[in-house]
This record gives sequence, C-alpha cells and structure tokens, in this order.
Amino acid sequence: MTDRKQELAANLAKVEERIAAACAAAGRRRDEVTLIVVTKTYPADDVRILSGLGVRHVAENRDQDAAPKAAACSDLPLSWHFVGQLQTNKVRSVVGYADVVQSVDRPKLVTALSREAVRTGREVGCLLQVALDAGESGRGERGGVGPGGIEELADLVAGAEGLRLDGLMTVAPLTGEYAGRQQAAFERLMDLSTCVRRTHPAANMVSAGMSADLEQAVAAGATHVRVGTAVLGVRPRLG
Ligand SMILES: *Cc1c(COP(=O)(O)O)cnc(C)c1O
Repeated sequence: MTDRKQELAANLAKVEERIAAACAAAGRRRDEVTLIVVTKTYPADDVRILSGLGVRHVAENRDQDAAPKAAACSDLPLSWHFVGQLQTNKVRSVVGYADVVQSVDRPKLVTALSREAVRTGREVGCLLQVALDAGESGRGERGGVGPGGIEELADLVAGAEGLRLDGLMTVAPLTGEYAGRQQAAFERLMDLSTCVRRTHPAANMVSAGMSADLEQAVAAGATHVRVGTAVLGVRPRLG
C-alpha cells in the first residue's frame, strides 16, 4: 500500500468506528447511516483510492473542481453529491455528473435543474438545503431555505420532471439560536423531515453532520453524514 492509501484507510477506519459507536449509542443499526466522503480540494487520485477502499458516495462543493474530478473518475462505481451553493449557470455542468444535489434552496434552481435533467434524460436526486439560522422565511448566509419555505419548495421539486425529491440537508449554523447546539439543530431538521414525509413519504434522506459533529447527527436520526477533514485531512485551502 502507498503511504496515502494507508493514511486514508486508517482515517476511514476511525470514522467508521465513530459512526458505529454513534449508531450503537442511539440504538440504531449501522446500515441506517450512509457515509459520504467530502473530497473537495483533494485530487482525483484520492477519490480513486477511496473508491478502492470501499467508499461509494463522494461529495463536492465547487463545480470548477468537481467536474474534472468526476470526469477523471467516471469509471468508478461512485455516487456524486453536490453540496455547495449552486448558481444556475453551473447547472448544466453539475447535472452532467451529480447523482444528487443536496443544496437545492430556491425555485429558480429547481426550474434550471429540471430543464437540464429532462434535456439529458437523467434523473437528479434533490435534497432541500435548510438554513436554520435564517429565520422562518429568510435565506441562509451560506445558502439554504428557511423552514417556512420548505413545503412550497418540496412540492415544486416533487412536481418537476426529471427531479426526485430525496429529503433534507443542513449544515449546523454558526450563528443564531442553534449556534453551538448541533444536536438541537439536527433534531429540528428531523422534525422538518417528518413534516415533509407526510406529503412526500419517499423523501426520507436526512443529510447532517460533518467531521466535528457526526455523532450528534447520528443521535438525532440523520441517514447521511458528510465527512471531509476526518478522512482526507485538514484542507490545504479554504473550500
Ligand atoms: C466541506 C463540507 C463538509 C465536510 O466538512 P468537514 O468538516 O471537512 O468534515 C460537509 N458538508 C458540506 C456542505 C461541506 O461544504
């Protein structure tokens, strides 16, 4: 094994242990939680190693980096998740490789994603990114729709050709009433997910938790955790 492969394998094992322990503590089965490795800022070579180590889901947040990486890894059995703020002028590129867009937060984006999915004959999974620091009807500083806007956006995605409403995603807020209260934030996301599933029962993905707070996310009921740093190391630049 190369040094990098050994390093990634060791980090993955540690993360796996954390997820398993969090599941056990919460009385959940390990297979209720899916690990998504956030590979942003790291090269395609790392993605290839991770795939060889059994990773099946990877996430990226900038199309400029993600598009060439996904192209270089198109032979691998990976699902690609897009988790960054998405401008409509990048939709064409993102739909080219993303199986799931986790950052759907406004009607204009839904329209653009649907149009491109139909044009290319693809089905794109969509998570609504919820901003828990935005107030009921506001928008988050780093994207996301306030809780009050979820229902309308969920109906819009569910009715859009080429799109599949998969569930909800959030990033623990740094400001507002949930600052420093990750578990409370993730529990709020779960409550919102319960509401959405009353009308859209198949939208059962709950994407929450990162390297620092995956335990709180699993405790709250998250189905997907998005882990970057704990697997790949501290990022060399902001991403
Ligand atoms: C970078 C990123 C992550 C991973 O964060 P780490 O702290 O490196 O685990 C998760 N979700 C989103 C939306 C991100 O941008």
